[in-house]
Amino acid sequence: MVTTTLFILLACILTAMAYLDVGNHAKGHSARTAFTFMRVAGELNSADPFAQMRFDEEGVLRLSRRVSEARDLIRQGAEGSDVEIFSDHPNFAGASARPDDFRLKALAAIRSGKSQYEGVERDNGRDYYRIAAPLLATQDCSGCIAAGVKDYKKGDTLGIREVVVPIDDEGSGILGKLKRALVMMLGALLVFLCLVVPMTRHNRSERVKMRNLADTLEVQASTDPLTGLKNRRYFEGKLEELVSRYNEEQSPLGLLVFDLDHFKKVNDTHGHDAGDLVLREVALRLRAITRDGDVVARIGGEEFAVIAPDATMDQSLVIAERYREMIGALRINVGKVVLRPTISVGVATNIDGGFLASDLFKAADRKLYEAKHAGRNRVAA
Ligand code: GH3
Ligand code: MG
Ligand code: MG
Repeated sequence: MVTTTLFILLACILTAMAYLDVGNHAKGHSARTAFTFMRVAGELNSADPFAQMRFDEEGVLRLSRRVSEARDLIRQGAEGSDVEIFSDHPNFAGASARPDDFRLKALAAIRSGKSQYEGVERDNGRDYYRIAAPLLATQDCSGCIAAGVKDYKKGDTLGIREVVVPIDDEGSGILGKLKRALVMMLGALLVFLCLVVPMTRHNRSERVKMRNLADTLEVQASTDPLTGLKNRRYFEGKLEELVSRYNEEQSPLGLLVFDLDHFKKVNDTHGHDAGDLVLREVALRLRAITRDGDVVARIGGEEFAVIAPDATMDQSLVIAERYREMIGALRINVGKVVLRPTISVGVATNIDGGFLASDLFKAADRKLYEAKHAGRNRVAA
């Protein structure tokens, strides 16, 4: 998900870079052309502007004529280009272009000391590069005072010369496409971040919840609620699995089945809750002494079983003795009475007891019966 986000973001950045690059390239090209044209328009500075305000033989202002000549010249260089002068001096009213936002700002910038002023404007679906430079008086005004208009001296800024060059159409076409691509990619990023990511997150958290639930159910299905030991269902499955594996490997597998002695009396004398307490205490002790890898389970009311992988008959007997002694050492306080539970244990292994899990279990159970008959609190094998 992070990779996808980064991928879309990278695509957006690359497109934006391409957009700026193409834009700058097209603008740069137009700017260079405009700069060259400005030299042509420089001619407009080179005569006494006041003298230029006279009309020629055809009745056209000389300055206007010079502007159109310059315009014809640059249009041969770049179709769609233009040149204008813009002045707020009354002498030039006849030759000056009309004021617009760009021209007013350009004049203000140039009067405040800038050598040029530029901008890009859109007109009729096409971008234009506009650049303005000062329109300078090359001589003092020869007749201003006599005519009663504002006087100016050589070098004064009378207004601006302006050159307009269209920005490469092909470039703007590509720019438009890049812009659309960028908008689409940003849209995709937005959809991904606002819809896909939250949905995926939600699904993932649902899956985690389901897995946790499944884990909980699985634990519940294999656990005895009173003691927290494995239950009979789990024990039977595990015994089945281990017996077949150990038979195949021809390795020993010990099985201990044991039962609390005279447990009915505990219930009858001290109550069912006292019986439950004894079962829980016994289970705690069992858990404490069971080796890693051994399986201990409560398989009936007060019956337990231990599967001891790799234990021979001799080793199983040692383990059984250990369980018997440890349980026998328990002292459980029930009210004012101290209970001392004991167990009888039946032991069998796959080697001598039975090839099938059910036979192995029956063999151990038979030995348990023998231990009970022989007087309880003992191990039989
Ligand atoms: P033995 O030495 O021959 O095993 O005698 P016993 O009294 O232990 O044997 P019996 O099978 O007659 O009695 C088992 C008793 O265990 C009967 C039942 O009330 C009790 N029991 C079984 N499950 C539970 C349980 O979950 N909680 C409690 N408190 N008692 C239980
Ligand atoms: Mg019993
Ligand atoms: Mg019993």
